Amino acid sequence: MVSVGEISQINAEETLSPARSVVIAIANQKGGVGKTTTAINLAAAFARRGLRTLLLDLDPQGNSSISFLDPQTVDRSAYDLMVEGQGDIVGYIYPTNVEGLEIIPSRINLAKLESKLVGDFDAPFRLKDRLEPLRGKVYDVVLIDTPPTLGLITVNALVAATHVLIPIQSSYFALEGTDDLLETIEKVKARPNPNLRVLGVVVTLHDRRTTLAREVHEQIRNVFGAQMFETVITKSVRLEEAPAYKESIFTFAPQSSGANEYLKLCEEVLGRV
Ligand code: ATP
Ligand code: MG
Repeated sequence: MVSVGEISQINAEETLSPARSVVIAIANQKGGVGKTTTAINLAAAFARRGLRTLLLDLDPQGNSSISFLDPQTVDRSAYDLMVEGQGDIVGYIYPTNVEGLEIIPSRINLAKLESKLVGDFDAPFRLKDRLEPLRGKVYDVVLIDTPPTLGLITVNALVAATHVLIPIQSSYFALEGTDDLLETIEKVKARPNPNLRVLGVVVTLHDRRTTLAREVHEQIRNVFGAQMFETVITKSVRLEEAPAYKESIFTFAPQSSGANEYLKLCEEVLGRV
């Protein structure tokens, strides 16, 4: 397993190369904070806006993938891309039923990545290297859904990304663990990816009715200030249901609060990149 300390020792070439398309990693090592829900619906929002969008599922749970694809149809996934992928990246990309949105899916075998790449000096750079042929071409936006860990998979996402978007769940322990996440981001910025920028923090699973939620929101604002997005994603059953029908919120429940909020978030994100 590569440690964060080791990563900052690696001096990557090319970190300052120009003209990359926007690559946004959605990361928080806390589980169940809305990373996947944000990834799939933001990706769909970008595509609806006419941006050529690639969703890259880097979570072995494959939740983003099953939101768009039948797992039976997936034979080449993010794991294969990162471990063996010498060939054309196009072979790992699948179409979705959303026009303008394509996906590189993941499967449970991605959980083996860390043990597979142990000791490889280029382990944190695998994804960045594999995405190289797409740089500045083909896609306007690449969104990466990451697993609830700060291990090698998330580090690969942060090394390949231009921006990181942090969803934080509106709950009592909302900020627990954010120090570790920010420290990892800083270490990745220190060497492998100096251009990485925190795009912002989005509060998710918010319940406007409770005082606690309002207090937590205030607390998050005190820590992140202007990095907070104005848009807050409230709790909505529709957002929970849509993936089961292999739909984004925009076709599943276009009038819902979730659809509105993710469209607003999409505009805010575009204003910041
Ligand atoms: P993991 O860390 O396991 O990958 P995650 O951070 O990707 O989790 P999600 O899978 O997006 O989190 O969300 C966790 C659960 O909460 C899911 O069942 C999802 O449908 C639900 N959920 C996410 N956002 C909302 C929301 N705004 N309203 C209602 N349910 C939501
Ligand atoms: Mg997830």
